[in-house]
Amino acid sequence: MKRRDFLEGVFVGTAVTASSAFLWGKLNQKPSVPVAAAPTAPAQPTTTPAATPPVSTPEPVQPAVVHKEPPEISEDRAYLSKIQNFDAEHLGDIHLTPERFELLKATLASLDEAQRLIGHGRFNIIGFDQMISVVNRYSQRGPFPKEHLNLIEELFEFNAKDYGFYGEKIVTRLTSTVPERDIEKIPYTGHYLYKGDSKRLYNTLRRDVGETIVLTSGIRGMVKQTHLFMAKALQSEGNLSRASRSLAPPGHSYHAIGDFDVGKVGYGKRNFTRDFAQTDEYKRLQDLGYVDIRYTSDNRFGVRYEPWHVKVV
Ligand SMILES: [Zn+2]
Repeated sequence: MKRRDFLEGVFVGTAVTASSAFLWGKLNQKPSVPVAAAPTAPAQPTTTPAATPPVSTPEPVQPAVVHKEPPEISEDRAYLSKIQNFDAEHLGDIHLTPERFELLKATLASLDEAQRLIGHGRFNIIGFDQMISVVNRYSQRGPFPKEHLNLIEELFEFNAKDYGFYGEKIVTRLTSTVPERDIEKIPYTGHYLYKGDSKRLYNTLRRDVGETIVLTSGIRGMVKQTHLFMAKALQSEGNLSRASRSLAPPGHSYHAIGDFDVGKVGYGKRNFTRDFAQTDEYKRLQDLGYVDIRYTSDNRFGVRYEPWHVKVV
């Protein structure tokens, strides 16, 4: 069976619109037709040789959805190789259908526009309802398209374990918001942290490591995580498994509730690669003895090694 057929089967076999009411009900819009593409019928040959019998039975296009569990020890080497080569294509990876991939591009353009209107800082923490109301009021492109909202909701409702992300779902409502009174903007970073444990840990490790270590990503609300995941899915050419090996799907990121990323000042994008583990900043971080990394090199979440991601909760 071709990989794409399988993906379509999985999507079609999943109810995706049942929970659309809350978020989109507010907009007085009914959920549109499921974004899931119907399985494509095999092309009919224009001429059929009369004497040729069918050579194979057609494969089912709609396999049962089996929720996968983290791999057994016997699969350990294959599993570890997958998270080490996280940005490669692996057997069994789940892809968006071509129709959805086009819709993903358009949806990303809408979210880019929202980010432009709202500003990068606040975009980290804004909730969906507020984002939509800003776009609807100020965007010259018109209201936020409902088919884009449907795709966002569909991705949110989809069981991430089915494409290989095994972390728990932490935020169960797409419309959840970040409580403003509990957060604080960290000067010169453009990012926010929760008051309490997150901010205390950040200040302590900066005191102990020095000012060459800095916050590179703090609180990420549902809008921000959705935008990042969709951008990663675009970069991964619609391969959701590959995207989720380097970015938690919306609802599954601990950035929503307290974790944060740190990097070395001036190290740029390399802060989000395994090179960060070679910096003095990381070594000093490790020597402190009180800092835990969320995604270790042998983590069971299905995620790459992230030495920059500090576990708080
Ligand atoms: Zn992180």
